[in-house]
Amino acid sequence: MKYNHLYAFALLAAMSAGCAKGPSTSSAPETAKAPVTDAAKLAEVSQKYAETITAADLSEHLHVIASDSFAGRDTGSKGQKMAAEYISSHFKEDGLAGPVKTGSNPYYQSFDLEKSQWGQGHISVGKEKYLMMKDFFVLGGSPYQTEQPADVVFVGYGIDDPKFNDYAGKDVTGKVVVVLAGEPKDASGNFIISGSDKASDWGNDYRSKRNAATEHGAKAVLIVTGTSDAEFNSLTERYKARAGRPSIGMKSTGDQATAATMFISPVVGASLLGTTMDKLFDYPEKVAAKGAPAVSTFTAAKDVKIQTERVAEPLSTENVLGFIEGTDKKDEVVVVTAHYDHVGTDSTLVGDKIYNGANDDGSGTVAVLEVAEAFAQAKKDGYGPRRSVLFMTVTGEEKGLLGSEYYSENPVFPLENTVADVNIDMIGRMDYEHEKTNDSNYIYVIGADKLSSELDQINTAMNEKYTHLKLDYTFNDENDPNRFYYRSDHYNFAKNGIPIVFYFNGVHDDYHKPGDEVEKINFESAQKVARLAFHVAWELANRDNRIVVDSNKK
Ligand SMILES: [Zn+2]
Repeated sequence: MKYNHLYAFALLAAMSAGCAKGPSTSSAPETAKAPVTDAAKLAEVSQKYAETITAADLSEHLHVIASDSFAGRDTGSKGQKMAAEYISSHFKEDGLAGPVKTGSNPYYQSFDLEKSQWGQGHISVGKEKYLMMKDFFVLGGSPYQTEQPADVVFVGYGIDDPKFNDYAGKDVTGKVVVVLAGEPKDASGNFIISGSDKASDWGNDYRSKRNAATEHGAKAVLIVTGTSDAEFNSLTERYKARAGRPSIGMKSTGDQATAATMFISPVVGASLLGTTMDKLFDYPEKVAAKGAPAVSTFTAAKDVKIQTERVAEPLSTENVLGFIEGTDKKDEVVVVTAHYDHVGTDSTLVGDKIYNGANDDGSGTVAVLEVAEAFAQAKKDGYGPRRSVLFMTVTGEEKGLLGSEYYSENPVFPLENTVADVNIDMIGRMDYEHEKTNDSNYIYVIGADKLSSELDQINTAMNEKYTHLKLDYTFNDENDPNRFYYRSDHYNFAKNGIPIVFYFNGVHDDYHKPGDEVEKINFESAQKVARLAFHVAWELANRDNRIVVDSNKK
């Protein structure tokens, strides 16, 4: 930042109101005058405000919100609240309005998520009692909050496929179906469905059996997993770890969209079917011999009860919003987002226990702060945006894009008036690929052409004119196995038909590790991407014509 005395006074005044505001020169029109609404004139001055977005300011902000005292900003935690306070106070200092009409703080869109974990859980067969998290695991939701009787029926492998249908002639409406994991083989050892040694989704993905049971109206499907307790335990090891942790999600409606799905041990399976494990595993051979579903000799147990209590508590959290009202096109809104939550701490770790999330997504959050400040300064100088601009740092991204989902379902500004979302998530590091050549002058652009070809053109044009980054479209491919297009907050706008552009630097060491520290951030490249986001938002806000939605690509 270049230093001069006149400027020093202005700066001091600004500093008392918040971090560096950038040059307000004598050429700035008197704010009393009507704001400039000529797109060309506004384009002329944009560079001046882009230059207020600096590596130094990004660093200053990030050294605060990614510091250990913010404890990794886990959703609902003290650290997340401290970050919300920090962001909203800077929006306020910079002159942005708080647009939220409900609640005590107009900068906060407050809402409750639900923190829940498994409580009491058992399957009882007569006097036998099998315990949740030991003898069986529930995947997803379950309707057995209290203990309820269960009408059990055996349905083979639980497959409904043209080549093999266990449900043929069976009415399982409201019942609990018990099925074997895997899929049937024929006498020669090939899978009956593929006709080869290749398993199908029926064997590989439990959701296929869940969906079949759901379609047949079953209340629950219990999948006998493994052929021994030891195998059951090793197969369910990873579920055990995850199922034991509390999860955070949207408030549950209690509606059970699918049949409850449980992995049960062979002991539980045999007990439910009134048989022994040996006889249970004779069934596959019968099927192999027949090459089709076989009749079983099992007699389902009568006195079966199930309980899978989920203990839930509300977890209050907030999206943080700063708003700059437009001038002659103020009903149309451009949104600029990042997520300010991260994953918190892990007390079981040895050494560093804090996931500081400097890059994920501290870098995007401070970029939003800087872009917001630049727009606010321009507005003060009479170069306010023609369309309104909403700056929003959302919560709950790491829990499943929850903050942006909540906004998209409870928009503060009508979605139909929302022109586009510019989303920034991880822009301060090089990914493995670029570390090889130590080339930080790039950014992955995802989604810009999916809903609006104009948005993609604007992004390319602004980069050519101002930031000269290598725009990399590797992850924009609809067949990209990483599916990054679906993995950050822009997707909750895109799924509502709103054009989006997503800036992302790719995956690197320390991703979701305690090592994602501020010391490793490349602020020069973050500055460039933040300035590109600024120029794109500026153009979207000031151009005469609102960009049109002309496609809906995957
Ligand atoms: Zn992220």
